[in-house]
Amino acid sequence: MRLIRRRAYASDHLNRLATLFREARRPIVFTGAGVSTESGIPDFRSPGGVWARFDPREFTYQNFVGSLEGRRRYWQLGRATYPLIRAASPNAAHRALAELHRLGRLDCCITQNIDDLHQRAGLPAAAVIELHGNATRARCLTCELPYSRDELHAWLEDGQRRARAADLFVVLGSSLVVYPAAYLPIHAKRAGAALVIVNLEPTPLDGEADLVLRARATEVMAHVLDHVRAGLAEKG
Ligand code: NAD
Repeated sequence: MRLIRRRAYASDHLNRLATLFREARRPIVFTGAGVSTESGIPDFRSPGGVWARFDPREFTYQNFVGSLEGRRRYWQLGRATYPLIRAASPNAAHRALAELHRLGRLDCCITQNIDDLHQRAGLPAAAVIELHGNATRARCLTCELPYSRDELHAWLEDGQRRARAADLFVVLGSSLVVYPAAYLPIHAKRAGAALVIVNLEPTPLDGEADLVLRARATEVMAHVLDHVRAGLAEKG
């Protein structure tokens, strides 16, 4: 495992990630809240994040459907978070991922985020697998759900299938403590993918990774995109 520390990380490690992107046949990026902090949406677990003000144990699906108080608390949380989501714009990391896909260097992005920023950066909806849904759409519980269960399960299965087919699996801004989403890097690694983790803080899966970059998502992805573009220009 190679570890790169923020501010002092060596460019050869960044270059190694860029080379992995250039050479991989099926690169996949798995994003968490950390990819959107530089767009102004706080993550959950960084100091000063959302859970500093709310208790995560209250926000279970069971609490939401089971009681009026659970739903009231959820919408209180939404009042704090949704205006930030609405006001946010895609950042350099979102844009780099969309561009890598356009250049044929990204199979898909599997995201835990609900902020729609990958799509707004230009990544086609078919290339974004949203494990936890999308906060820009909601339906009343007494009305029909926006997706059928079959459709939701097909998406979840698609995420697992594609993770196993990847030869490069990059985690971008996730603490990797939310399951079952955090199984995906493990599935990808066990199926033979090179596992790279880009996150500001240590994660429980750092020991499994081939490369760990303690660096900002925007900085890393802008660097990767420059190298991939340079490689494509060389090939003509
Ligand atoms: P998390 O809050 O548990 O972890 C985010 C990680 O990102 C932290 O470990 C932090 O060190 C790192 N990070 C923060 N800024 C970074 C940056 N600029 N570059 C690189 N790393 C950075 O988030 P999670 O792992 O996604 O899990 C929490 C759950 O919260 C998920 O289900 C997610 O859907 C949800 N969530 C989503 C949003 C969103 O849609 N933007 C925001 C908050 C929470």
